[in-house]
Amino acid sequence: MYRLLLWIIMILFTGVLPVRGLGGEIFPQWETDEGSGGGTEQDLNEDHADGQAAGGSDYIDPVFGESGYYMQSVGEARVPVFMVSFQDVTYRRNRVTKDDLTEWLFAQDDSVTAYYDTASYGRMHIGGDVYFYEAEGEIASYENDYGFENLVMEVLTYYDEEIDFSEYDCNGDSIMDALVISVPSGGDVDFWWGCQATWYQNPEFRVDGISVNTYIINDEQPYVGERAVYQGTIEHELGHCMGLPDYYKYYSDDSEGFHGIAGMERMDDSSGDFCQFSKLMLGWLREDQVQVMGPDVESASFRLPKAHEGGCVVIFPQGGQIDFNSEYFLVEYNTPDGNNEGVFEAEQAGVRVFHVNARIEIDPYDGEPYFRYENYSPYYNESDEGIRVLKLVNDGEGFYRTGDSVVYGEASDFGWYTPAGSLSDPKLTIRIGEVTDDGIEIEVVRQ
Ligand SMILES: [Zn+2]
Repeated sequence: MYRLLLWIIMILFTGVLPVRGLGGEIFPQWETDEGSGGGTEQDLNEDHADGQAAGGSDYIDPVFGESGYYMQSVGEARVPVFMVSFQDVTYRRNRVTKDDLTEWLFAQDDSVTAYYDTASYGRMHIGGDVYFYEAEGEIASYENDYGFENLVMEVLTYYDEEIDFSEYDCNGDSIMDALVISVPSGGDVDFWWGCQATWYQNPEFRVDGISVNTYIINDEQPYVGERAVYQGTIEHELGHCMGLPDYYKYYSDDSEGFHGIAGMERMDDSSGDFCQFSKLMLGWLREDQVQVMGPDVESASFRLPKAHEGGCVVIFPQGGQIDFNSEYFLVEYNTPDGNNEGVFEAEQAGVRVFHVNARIEIDPYDGEPYFRYENYSPYYNESDEGIRVLKLVNDGEGFYRTGDSVVYGEASDFGWYTPAGSLSDPKLTIRIGEVTDDGIEIEVVRQ
C-alpha cells in the first residue's frame, strides 16, 4: 500500500508514473569452470522446465522472481526488443542494422546475453529478438502519464499476428519475461530515459494470453560507438526486472552509491559486473560458494576465490543468526576478469567489503518482496545517511590488498547498525592475507 500510495502521490504531483530505475543512467558510462553443479545452459533449461531449481538443491534460492511478478533470475528468459520510431522522430540513417543489434544483444560473445551468462555462472540465459516499429503518432502524443503503456499496447497489438508472444514467456507463468521499447532521441529528454517500468494501468491487456509486468524503456541510441552504453543500460534495467534495486542514492546531490575503483556495480554506476551480494540475491551462488562466519564463531580463515569464479565470505554479527536477508558483511575478491575485464587494472585488484542489510518486506498491496532499506521503501531514510541495503566499506579508498586490515573507526561504514541507523563497533577485524593460485586468504577475528 505504501508503494501504491507513493505512486499515486507521484502521479499527482509530478504527472509521472514512478518507475524503478528512474534516472538509472545518470552516470557517464564510464564463466565459470564450476560446471559440476549442473551449470550448463542445456541442463538449466531442462531443469527449469521440470520446475526444479537449476543445478539441484545446492543453489541458494533467489529472493525475487519466483512468483512471476519479477522476471525469473534463474533459468532462461526471452525478451523482444522493439526499435520504435515515431511519425516525426526517427533514427538517423546511420543506425546499425537489425543484424548488428541482434548481435549487440543476443550473440554468443560481447552481448547482453553473454554478460548474463558470465555474471550468473551460466544460471541465467537471456535470449530474444529485435523488431522495428513505426508508431502511429508523433512522439509528443506519448509523452504523458499513459504514454508508456499506450505505446507498448500499440506495438504488441501490431505484432500480435506475426509473433507468438508465448515464446517470450519461458517459465510458463503467462507473463512476458520482459520486453524492451527502444526510442530515438528527439523527444522530451525528461520523459524518455532509460528505466524499468511496471505494468499498472491496463491490467486486462493480453497478447496470446500473455500479460506484461516488467518492461524496459531504453533511450540509448543504436549507432556505432554506442554499443557498450546501449548494452550497459539494458543490462542494468534487466537487473531491475529481476528484482534488484538501484544502489545509487536518489535523494543526495552526490548520487553515486559506491565511489572509487572498488565502487563499480551494475546497479550503482552501471559499470562492470554485479557484485556477489546481487548474485546471492538472484540465486546464482551455490551454498558451497558462500562461506559463512556464523554468529558464534570467534575467528576463522577463508580462501576467497576470484569473484568471476563465484564466491564470497559472509560475516554475521555476534548474537545474530545465519540469514542472508539480514545484516552482515559480505567480502569478495575482485580481479579484472569476466565482466570486470578492462574496468580496472590487474595491479589494482583486491578485496572489497559490503555492509549489507537485506531485510525483506512484503508489499501489502501486491504481495511482492522488496528490500526494507532500498530507495523506494517507506522505511528508507531519505537523508541517504541511515540504513541502506548495500554500502561499500571504506568507500572511495579502492580495494583492500594483502597486508591490509579492515578496522572499526578507520573504514567508513564498518560497523553494525543501531536501530537509529548509526554504526556501532562491529567488534571484529578482517585481515587480508596472501594471494594464492586459487584466490586470496582472509582472516576474521572477533574481539
Ligand atoms: Zn536503475
